Amino acid sequence: MHVFAARFGSMARRHDLAGIELLDAPTHEIERQRHILHQAPYHGTNLTPGSGHFNYFSNIPRILDHRPMNFALPPDLARWQERVRAFVTAELQPHDAEIEETGRVPEIAMAGLRRMGLFGTNTPQAYGGLGLSMLGSCLAIEEIAKAHTAFYYLSGVNVHIGSKPIEFSGTEEQKRRWLPELASGRVIGAFALTEQGAGSDAARLATTARRDGDHYVLNGSKLYITNAPEAGLFTVFATLDPLLGSRGIGAFLVEAGTRGLTVGRTIEMAAGRGSHHSELLFNECRIPAANLLAGEGEGFALAMRCLDAGRTHWGAYCVGAAQRLLDLAIARASSREAFGQRLREHQGIEWMLADMAAALHAARLVAYEAAWRYDGEDAAARTRAAALSKLICADMVQKIADTTLQIFGGSGYSREQPIERIWRETRVVRILDGTSEMMRRIVARDLYRTADRRNTSV
Ligand SMILES: Cc1cc2nc3c(=O)[nH]c(=O)nc-3n(C[C@H](O)[C@H](O)[C@H](O)COP(=O)(O)OP(=O)(O)OC[C@H]3O[C@@H](n4cnc5c(N)ncnc54)[C@H](O)[C@@H]3O)c2cc1C
Repeated sequence: MHVFAARFGSMARRHDLAGIELLDAPTHEIERQRHILHQAPYHGTNLTPGSGHFNYFSNIPRILDHRPMNFALPPDLARWQERVRAFVTAELQPHDAEIEETGRVPEIAMAGLRRMGLFGTNTPQAYGGLGLSMLGSCLAIEEIAKAHTAFYYLSGVNVHIGSKPIEFSGTEEQKRRWLPELASGRVIGAFALTEQGAGSDAARLATTARRDGDHYVLNGSKLYITNAPEAGLFTVFATLDPLLGSRGIGAFLVEAGTRGLTVGRTIEMAAGRGSHHSELLFNECRIPAANLLAGEGEGFALAMRCLDAGRTHWGAYCVGAAQRLLDLAIARASSREAFGQRLREHQGIEWMLADMAAALHAARLVAYEAAWRYDGEDAAARTRAAALSKLICADMVQKIADTTLQIFGGSGYSREQPIERIWRETRVVRILDGTSEMMRRIVARDLYRTADRRNTSV
């Protein structure tokens, strides 16, 4: 897409310590490319709309000339993707069965994730991250998703909802203190929004924050908090005034071990062995007033902004898991025989594979668009694209998991193959970080906003 070319096509080449070519174009280059895009329809002419000479139709060939589509990944990103792919194949996938068996992620795999910088792909370099664009980060997530989901819960989730609250709203001191720890994986961050009575309707929080001199005091509980037992730092959302609804919510940094904070029971999930989702209990938990992120009533908006990053990553996660499934399905259909020929030679199976490839291809484009929009300046477009990506990719991967399992037959349903595990693991994408129904709500509201702006009536 021209958008990729615009953002990445003529990047200055810089390298980080790991030898990765860094992907951020200098600001003046992005500005130059933007300028070219905006000028493109009139490029090479002295005609502009409103000049009195402008003939839109006579300029169409020029529009086509100067806005080429380019769907290839820029070479830097393609190399980065290959590097992560090789790492996942050699160092993560061999542990998949062990994690499923023991429920523990081996330290050697964690060390590999740290070495590759996968706890801080999208965190700015100034704070110890790789400083990749969101597309670069999503490409890494896509590869990590081809291994056990526990790896993604630890590293990928740390990149978005673990780190973003501080990246977006922390003071310089908080950023310097925490982001390098989070980006290196030395500290795991957790994001505590959901409660027993507040899931999709996240503004209905019952956890309270009360100002008391130089402190805030938190009381209440949270549910399903990913990585809570491992976390060194929690971003906790609590209401300062329930009557104000979403405008009464604040976001607070709470360090693990703070008196009054207890990590409660861990809830057994259908999948995701090796990752933990737990209850948090706050009982007169006192934290310094300086631990407030953003302003007192700005916590809800901050949470939604962080979730845009989470949803964008989840789209990429689904794409990676689906690619793994499709690869397995092709391998199985190529080796298994029935009725005197390989499964893949039966038209029924051939069509299944083709439909899977078609759905995956479309979803991948949507996921990459969301990644690109995430780095843009249009907040509404970013939110819509993230919601669309999560909605579309979550459905896509579930259909592909189901079809792959069907192609594998009995062995697909057995625990001897990874299919049933991936089938269970990917189901949750329709629920967490906002359910598919909430994604539809975001998309619909955006539709209404656009329609109302146009003010058309029938
Ligand atoms: C594995 C896992 C990890 C998680 N990690 C975290 C975490 O780290 N931090 C955190 O804060 N939370 C986390 N969550 C919580 C998750 O974000 C919530 O489960 C999710 O937002 C849905 O909330 P709920 O479960 O309360 O469902 P509910 O809000 O009770 O919804 C139940 C059903 O009703 C539907 N529904 C609700 N309102 C509407 C409506 N207006 N229109 C149509 N349908 C509607 C929902 O879509 C859903 O299908 C996690 C959950 C899981 C399963």
